[in-house]
Amino acid sequence: MPENQGEVVIVGGGLAGLAAAEAASAASPGRRVIIFEAAGRPGGVIGTVQEDGWLVERSADCFLAARPEGIELITRLGLGDQLIGVNPQVRRALVWHRGRAVPVPTGFRLLAPGRIGSILTTPLLSPAGRLRVLAERWVPRRTTGEESLQAFATRRLGREAFERLVQPLAAGIWTADPARLGMAAACGEFLQLEREHGSLWAGERARLRNQPQVAEAAGARYGQFASFASGMETLPARLADRLRDRGVEFRTGRIERVARTGAGWSVTSRLEGSPQSVEQAAAALILAVPAPVAGAMLAALDPALASELTGIEYAGSVVVSLGFRRADVAHPLDAAGLVVPRSAGRRALAVSFSSSKFPGRAPADHVLMRLFLGGALDPATVELSDRGLVELAVTEARGLVGATGTPRFQRIDRWASSMPQYHVGHADRVSRIEQAVAAWPGLALAGAAYRGVGIPQVIASGQAAARQVAAEL
Ligand SMILES: Cc1cc2nc3c(=O)[nH]c(=O)nc-3n(C[C@H](O)[C@H](O)[C@H](O)COP(=O)(O)OP(=O)(O)OC[C@H]3O[C@@H](n4cnc5c(N)ncnc54)[C@H](O)[C@@H]3O)c2cc1C
Repeated sequence: MPENQGEVVIVGGGLAGLAAAEAASAASPGRRVIIFEAAGRPGGVIGTVQEDGWLVERSADCFLAARPEGIELITRLGLGDQLIGVNPQVRRALVWHRGRAVPVPTGFRLLAPGRIGSILTTPLLSPAGRLRVLAERWVPRRTTGEESLQAFATRRLGREAFERLVQPLAAGIWTADPARLGMAAACGEFLQLEREHGSLWAGERARLRNQPQVAEAAGARYGQFASFASGMETLPARLADRLRDRGVEFRTGRIERVARTGAGWSVTSRLEGSPQSVEQAAAALILAVPAPVAGAMLAALDPALASELTGIEYAGSVVVSLGFRRADVAHPLDAAGLVVPRSAGRRALAVSFSSSKFPGRAPADHVLMRLFLGGALDPATVELSDRGLVELAVTEARGLVGATGTPRFQRIDRWASSMPQYHVGHADRVSRIEQAVAAWPGLALAGAAYRGVGIPQVIASGQAAARQVAAEL
């Protein structure tokens, strides 16, 4: 067995693993920190591709600026001046309704109706549907049992608002089945509004009243969402450079097993290009990999914990990025993007108007859009051939935004089993997982699988894991 030399070993070099390494190396400057990353490049799913004047995000294209963890890390890394907000002219979303793109009512935030006027006038809802949304404030609160997003939204806002508004907005974020997506883990903030204020309407009004400074501070600078002039990969790339400067070691290798050795840990990996297994001792171990991967590593050690981890389901999706000449797209693309209700019977979940949102995404006189296909309710799409996917995306772009002619740029990013699904019961499951992990000194988990898939939440999870193991070293 290798000697336990007090190393912090982090498995997974996605944003969660990198954030954990940053926090761990800052907390104890002398301590050895080693990251094992199977893919050989830091950043995990985050990646930016630049080609012939196109700048394309492979997965995430922005992050929520209002949460502090992202902005604070970015500022520490000296990247603040590279941040860009969504173009103020297009800070709105469209939703596909009866063959045309209609704006989401102003002030409507995923589930919370913010303004009466915009609900009363939206062409998205029938007169009865609008009244039903306005009646939300009188729907009694429910405090027992966890509901799915679909059950909660239908109960509070009515079926029509769920189908035409909430379902497509939620699919654009989680690519999930709304009948299984759990309110507590996925939309806890809205559950809280109901619990504390009796209705989403009252809760949203109170939120806007009580936190104007938060909304304004983030909103005035970047809007709700921010990105980087040269793409989202700027963040993991700079973070990895900072870590190397601090002496954090990066190893390319897929960890296959973890074991308990006396008071510490050992991980076994197969290093790239080598037939041999390599063991590395660790005083503390942070698993920043997808939950089922962590589950497989821990299966022999703690079968109950492993089974909780492997029970977290993942959905796949595909991002097809298409570039067109501006003149070949009929729609003005005067929004951040378009979400598509399932009831419309189309194949795209959403279209992000990348070159409208951020500068420098397409060459002059061209536009870039990213079509999201697949998701939990359409798992077969991830398996389509490249040709089939491009054909499908082009057909959708033609139908949804009037794109004609041949795309001048195309790129496919397949994300099989990449999005953790926070199903009903997820929050309880995560509590059980955290309890089980607490029984293993020096072990922590981090990543999108547990308490938020968004970039700031994933950064927070890495930092929390580093704090947890530092307290136990
Ligand atoms: C298509 C898509 C679009 C998204 N859009 C947004 C967005 O716009 N805004 C936003 O905030 N969030 C977005 N997200 C979510 C966000 O990007 C992710 O939740 C986050 O980046 C996940 O980080 P992570 O470190 O938890 O996981 P990952 O990025 O998956 O990293 C895990 C790492 O572990 C490595 N690994 C796996 N197994 C092993 C092993 N056995 N040994 C060693 N290494 C291993 C992998 O290679 C990988 O690098 C999006 C996600 C996807 C998929």
